[in-house]
Amino acid sequence: MSIAHAHTAPLDRFSLPDAGGHFGGYGGVYVPETLMTALQELGAAYDLARKDPVFLAELRHHLKEFAGRPTELCFAERLTEHCGGAKIYLKREDLLHTGAHKINNALAQALLARRMGKKRIIAETGAGQHGVATAAACAKFGLECVVYMGAHDMERQSLNVFRMRLMGAEVRGVEAGQKTLKEAINEAMRDWVTNVRSTHYILGTAYGSHPYPMMVRDFHRVIGQEAKEQILAREGRLPDELIACVGGGSNAIGLFFEFLEEPNVRMIGVEAGGHGIKRGEHAARFAGGRLGVLQGCKTFLLQDAEGQIESTHSVSAGLDYAAVGPEHAFYRDRGRIHFAYATDDEVMAAFQLCSRLEGIIPALESTHAIVEGMKRAKALAKDKVIIINLSGRGDKDVQQVAKILDVKL
Ligand SMILES: *Cc1c(COP(=O)(O)O)cnc(C)c1O
Repeated sequence: MSIAHAHTAPLDRFSLPDAGGHFGGYGGVYVPETLMTALQELGAAYDLARKDPVFLAELRHHLKEFAGRPTELCFAERLTEHCGGAKIYLKREDLLHTGAHKINNALAQALLARRMGKKRIIAETGAGQHGVATAAACAKFGLECVVYMGAHDMERQSLNVFRMRLMGAEVRGVEAGQKTLKEAINEAMRDWVTNVRSTHYILGTAYGSHPYPMMVRDFHRVIGQEAKEQILAREGRLPDELIACVGGGSNAIGLFFEFLEEPNVRMIGVEAGGHGIKRGEHAARFAGGRLGVLQGCKTFLLQDAEGQIESTHSVSAGLDYAAVGPEHAFYRDRGRIHFAYATDDEVMAAFQLCSRLEGIIPALESTHAIVEGMKRAKALAKDKVIIINLSGRGDKDVQQVAKILDVKL
């Protein structure tokens, strides 16, 4: 399907991706041949699992009992009053076990791996949130767990390294390049090529080669399914706007997917504006990026004239990646999902405001969505309704924030 065709075809969210993993001109499979078989095997196993009532019941059970689903949809009364416009609701993914939405996907993929007879799990992690979620899921199901993490990130996030180790995971530092997330993914892919028979790779966001963007999306769709039911029960109608932060794009597509075919629900993804839109100072792929291929996926990415990946910056490690999930690029072209960015300074202010007004310390990632949500609420009438995805809690960020605010702990 050409991109031009995709623009005009009627929207059917279930028709995507196609059999080759394409979302219009984005996505696909760009890996060495040695990984093709593994991806095909995974795709086939997932295809069976998603239709198997036993797997789905098992997943539902663990999401409830272990992860803590459903999560609340919470009316942010004082934040709403402060903005003076639309009603703001927060979808409380921060209340999940291990503190963020990532457990939805880690738990589901761990179950899938067990079903496939794979006893060894590998994962990449940036700030450590996906690593912690994966370590927890592996401990729960008795799976061996190896997490690749850039050596620089290990220093910055030593508490998460310790958490993973407490839960029995082996954390392997990666010394290549910038020693951050991108290098950790490279190392995980290298491991997977070598150990593909025994090992499943739990990728942490709606990114990479098919079937990952689709599969990870599906495992987070529960966010939007719950939110839709909850807002209908609470307000008797659908929301006017949905807002979520976008790193790879998993929490955002998880919230948005259920509403894609509701024409009156506007959706906004919020990227990391860092120090502003200057080369190397942000991670807003739609503000400064263009089409390219990175780590198995064709999408919007930040690159220089030669196609070398640009360095990125954000106060929040979870949004600090040069590429964005292919499904978001597709829906942006169609005008279905809109994108904005929040700068580090805006995020620091909203982080403190939300803590003070709501008694909720949000993850710095999620705070990007709060920044945009507050701007939108101010611009909308009081009878409008906004849902912000609170993708994670900010406990992991308080030391960093104290440092930025020059507060001695
Ligand atoms: C990892 C993370 C994100 C970014 O990942 P997505 O795949 O874009 O959702 C956002 N919020 C929190 C709390 C995270 O831990």
